[in-house]
Amino acid sequence: MPYQNEFARKTTHFDFVKNPEIQAFLNSCEYLIPPNEKEARELIRVFQKPPRPSKIELPRLILATDGSYYESALNDRIPSTRVGYIKIGAVLFSLEEFANLHEGHFVDPFKVAALQDNNTSLAFVLPSANVRLSGYSSVRDSFRAALDEQLLSEKTRFDPKNFHTSLRGTLFHLASRRPGEMGTDSPFRLKLHKCPTCGKGPIEIEDKLEQQFCPHCGAPVYPSDCLRLWEEVHDYQSNGTALSRLMMILEHLIPIHYMRFIQQKAFLALTKIAFFVDGPLAIFGNAAWLHRSIMIYLYEINEKLQRKGMPPILMIGLQKRGQIVDYANMIERFLPPNSLFAIEDEYRYKYILANREPSKHGFGFETYYGQDFIFKTREGKSFVFGLPYPFKSKEEPGSDFAHEKTEWHRYINLPVAVQLIEHLQTELYQDAVIPIALAHRYTAISLQPGGRVLDLLTRRALA
Ligand SMILES: [Zn+2]
Repeated sequence: MPYQNEFARKTTHFDFVKNPEIQAFLNSCEYLIPPNEKEARELIRVFQKPPRPSKIELPRLILATDGSYYESALNDRIPSTRVGYIKIGAVLFSLEEFANLHEGHFVDPFKVAALQDNNTSLAFVLPSANVRLSGYSSVRDSFRAALDEQLLSEKTRFDPKNFHTSLRGTLFHLASRRPGEMGTDSPFRLKLHKCPTCGKGPIEIEDKLEQQFCPHCGAPVYPSDCLRLWEEVHDYQSNGTALSRLMMILEHLIPIHYMRFIQQKAFLALTKIAFFVDGPLAIFGNAAWLHRSIMIYLYEINEKLQRKGMPPILMIGLQKRGQIVDYANMIERFLPPNSLFAIEDEYRYKYILANREPSKHGFGFETYYGQDFIFKTREGKSFVFGLPYPFKSKEEPGSDFAHEKTEWHRYINLPVAVQLIEHLQTELYQDAVIPIALAHRYTAISLQPGGRVLDLLTRRALA
């Protein structure tokens, strides 16, 4: 009962805790409890010194993406009428540029600002509660049409004249790789599990500009319906869930989009770039199927790189919050610097997710495409990061995925990842890697003053 004493200090809380029903409830709960010295020694036994080969070549460039979303009322007097905004920032900078930012221990704010000028960011505007596009009868149908249009828009294309190079085109590349019946053998075709209007399916769709229709009921269907966000869009309430899901999908889709572009333009350049993503390497919700396609996509690129004698793509998911971060903070004072652990399922369920029933096929079977690591740097800062699984599938016959995914030697980039995270840690952004911090700073829509500007823009646009 670690929090009891904290409660007791505040008299108002004290009365609650004395209540026998609340006491019984608290006793029946399971939650993270800070370990004592003896327990902690047991917990940190699994950590080892990270691999530090004598010669490590760091990537030349960092590409970091990070998103934010915001839902705004169109009018203060009608707060139930809302529009959703999603902004995904991408920062690309070279490690040399980063080195030049530091003047001794002082980070020059002008140089940071100049770096932010090299950013690009993508903004999406989507109808939310009580807002319909003209010609559409529901928020859901308006959301679907607006999403598809914006994924296809010129601002997302590598080549403005070629719509196959849009973000929607990248979605086709991933969706066509779905294992089993939902896959197609062409990057210009994908399948929807069902029609959002009549519920019949699957339906095959092409990557083309013309409006496509359900063969069963004749209602419009869109390629991006495959993300199944429409299932969480409602007419009269906030659509925060659908917006946050879409933001998360875009945070993973955009690095893949860049990889697709770089792959075509300068294949070997892929090995010079580190791709930083915010959060675990996983896709949650109705679009979780996308994680398998990403796994396959990365595997295919890595196979090509390997044939040329090159290391795999360096993609790092950095977690700033969540249960593992809480756990890492809790054991941090017991953990010696320069320690690394690839989280094993058994350990995770026993110590980190103690209140959760272990999944039958192993942790993250339906969602994760990367392995989580806990790392404490030589300077003593703790990070939780993920690297893509070096496998095409989690179900290769004869393989023991749950074990193999935690074997360090399979992650060829692990020493580089460790070195890079150590290289980028700063005094300024405590426990945050600077690209994420920069991307976040650039894209964050805060209620004041940024959000206010968007409120005004919305009203003007609709005035
Ligand atoms: Zn239909």
